[in-house]
Order: sequence, then structure tokens, then C-alpha cells
Amino acid sequence: MKPTFSLGRIAGISIGVHWSVLAMMVLVTEIVAVGILPARAPGLGAVTYWLTGVVASVTFLASLLGHELAHAVVARRFRMRADRITLWLLGGFTELGSHPPTPRAAFLVAAAGPGASLAIAAGFGLLAFGAGFTPLPAVVAAVLAWLALVNGVLGVFNLLPGAPLDGGRLLQALLWKRTGDQSGAAVTAAKAGRVVGVVLIVLGVVEVVSQRLVGGIWLALIGWFLIVSASTEASSVSLRDRLAGVRLRDVMSPAPPSAPEWWTAETFLDRMARADRHRAFPVVDMDGRPIRVVTLADLVRLAPGMRAHTRLAELGRPVRQDSVADPADLLTELPASAWPSSSDRSLLFVADANRLVGMLTAKDVSRAIELANLGHLPSGSDSPGPPVEEPEREGPGSAPPVPGRSPDHGHNA
Ligand SMILES: [Zn+2]
Repeated sequence: MKPTFSLGRIAGISIGVHWSVLAMMVLVTEIVAVGILPARAPGLGAVTYWLTGVVASVTFLASLLGHELAHAVVARRFRMRADRITLWLLGGFTELGSHPPTPRAAFLVAAAGPGASLAIAAGFGLLAFGAGFTPLPAVVAAVLAWLALVNGVLGVFNLLPGAPLDGGRLLQALLWKRTGDQSGAAVTAAKAGRVVGVVLIVLGVVEVVSQRLVGGIWLALIGWFLIVSASTEASSVSLRDRLAGVRLRDVMSPAPPSAPEWWTAETFLDRMARADRHRAFPVVDMDGRPIRVVTLADLVRLAPGMRAHTRLAELGRPVRQDSVADPADLLTELPASAWPSSSDRSLLFVADANRLVGMLTAKDVSRAIELANLGHLPSGSDSPGPPVEEPEREGPGSAPPVPGRSPDHGHNA
């Protein structure tokens, strides 16, 4: 899931918000303003309840962020990449760009989130207790007590033993340590995640039947999300196994057509864009280094009269640092952000000593996956093809699934 807008960076980790988080905030505000406060701090006006509800929901979102930051910070201590935290309808997730190096690292990264939530719960609990001894209005203590409760529930809920919940990650780390089989542990944790998901859906239906509509739907939604992510995760682990040993040079399109930055748009159109079958082209500098991506759509947007006067250096978009990789890099170790999607501009450039030698598109990745499913690794790979397993679901749409990529930590309000 891509964040709808960015809130900036904390400790170098980009913090984003998906629009669906608004639904969660409205729900939380409503629960606090209507369900909690009038009973705990009676006699106040509706405006006070609703405003306090808004404050409570923003604070809750901040504590959710605290949970995710704890994962990210611990991941960084183990030199793992923590690229982005996104808050959304069902909580938050931290995108880890690399896999934990050891079972211990996996365990501590997973434990950090619930640990943070429980610590935050204890903090709010103490504040709520202290507020009782001050002349502060009862509504303050009521909100603090609610925040303590909800963070406590969040911490405990995330310890349920099924991936992608943190408890599932803990289980995965323990199995990995015991058996030494990282993939096997991930598959078992994902299976457990599906079981937890089914249980939550059943509980949700029971809630709905007993007239607790919102809570029931919420629980069922989380259950469904768990089942979907656990299934995606299991298939991406199996894909990762099958693509083990495949390096970029084995799957890239070698010697891609590239245009020098000093060409004008007109020259580019005449000499390259018209004749070639691609829609997006790398632009290279004098040393052959990929510096920009120009698409046919960029040419369309340029007024025809400007074609003779505009150089490629001014067209298109600069190449992002993380979309250039080395030919010897393993396909399965690419960070999620570098993975080519079906979008025109989404290309991974393969450069040897800074010089463009290849390009990886979504098509190249799909081809590698299909070959791997047939039991054949692309030529030149390090290891022989693993045995063919049953075909895996590759999800809807044309973008190939990313091995090892899944919401690393799904959390629930
Ligand atoms: Zn977590």
C-alpha cells in the first residue's frame, strides 16, 4: 500500500498516511465521544466530548506510530533497512527493505512493537492514575485511562501467534532458531496467520449476531486482512526459494537502448524512440551512467515546436539512487522500493562500475518467475533449479509479486 501523503521523516524513516486512516480516526473519535466519555465524565456538553474524542484519536495514532517506530529503530540497530512506515485503516506497517540477519534479530525487531505499545499503555495508565489526584477535570483522566487500555489491547492483540502479526514473527523467529530453516519457519508462521484470521472472522460474526455491529465488522475485517497477507506471504516465501541464486545479470535485458543526455527531444524521437519497441528509455551521461528516465508520454507533453530546443537532460525524471543496482546483486535481495512494477517508469537500471549494462522491467521479472515455476532458473544462475512445487497464486494485476515483500507488521486498532 502506498501512502496517500507523507508526514515527513523521523530518524530518517519516511512516515506516510494512507487516506483510509481517516475512517479509523472517525471511528475512534466516535467511540470515545459517544461510547466512553459521557459515562466516565458525565455532565459535559457534546462539543467537549467530540473535541476530546478528536484529541484521543490523534494521540492514539501517535502511539500507533510509536509502535511502528520501535520496530524500525530496532531493525536499524541490526543494520536492516527500514524504509517507510504507513498508517492506515487497520493500524500501521513498517516496510523493512531487508530480511533479519539472524533469528535473534528477527525476534527483537518483532518484540519491539508490542513492547512499545505496552510501555505506552503503562505510561498512560500512570498519568491517568496521577490525574485522579489533581484538580484536572474528570474527562482528562477518562481519556488517559482509555488510551492506556487501547494501547494495552494493541500490544496484546499483536502478540497473537500468526504472521503478519508480531506474535507470528516471534513464532517465526523461534522456529527459525530451532530448525535453522528460515523459509520453513516463515511458511509455518503464515499458516498460523491464516488460522488466526479465520478465528477472528468467526468471532466477528458472533459479535455481529449479538448486535455489536461495528466491533464485529472491524474484527472480521482484520481477520480477512490477516488471511490475505498470510497467503501472500507464504507464496512470496516459496517464490523467494525458487529464485534463490538468481542474479540481476541473469534476468535483466542486456544492453538496453539508451540516449545521451545532450540529444534533443527531436533527435531522440528520430533516432531511437520511433524505431524501438520500448516506451521508457534511460538517459545516460558522458560516462554511460544512467541519470534520467524519459518516456514517450514525456515527449507527448512537450509542445512540438520545443522538440528541437529541449535536451533530454531537461526531460523526464532523474533516476532514483535505489533504482540502480549491480549485475551481481541477487534478485531476491532487491529492496522492495527498487522492485519494478508495471508502471512505465518503473525500471531498475543495472550498472557495472556506474556504466549502464542492463535494465530490469516488470516483464523480465515475470519471465524469471515463470521460468522458475517451470523448474528452470534463468541461465547463468548460481544454483540448479529447485524442485517444482504446486503453482502459486500470484495475485491480481500485471505486477509480479515481490519475493519476501509483504506488510511486515500489520496492526489493528
Ligand atoms: Zn508491530
